Amino acid sequence: MLDGEYVSVARMKLDDMQVIGDEMALKWGDGSEQFIPLEVLRRACPCASCSGEVDVMGNLHKGLSHTLRSESFQIRRVQPVGGYALQIFWGDEHNTGLYSYDFLLGLGE
Ligand SMILES: [Zn+2]
Repeated sequence: MLDGEYVSVARMKLDDMQVIGDEMALKWGDGSEQFIPLEVLRRACPCASCSGEVDVMGNLHKGLSHTLRSESFQIRRVQPVGGYALQIFWGDEHNTGLYSYDFLLGLGE
């Protein structure tokens, strides 16, 4: 058996991704499938503007453009990034969030 330090190196592979209705369906390299509602995905957007930035004083600042409309929960396009993340282009032109595979895996429970 390998020591623990090797365990976290293994990276999940994404075999397939589809948007079906109002969910994203992900098929992972280990054969597991995951369905994430688009609204959950958008609200979890990891970009600095959505998730907020902490300044040197420790105050959390959130972006200003946060009125989510119905288009905000629709996906126009998904661009794979470097084999480890998906960039999602939302219906309201928001596209700065990079959803890493680890992040996506953590969302679907
Ligand atoms: Zn965002």
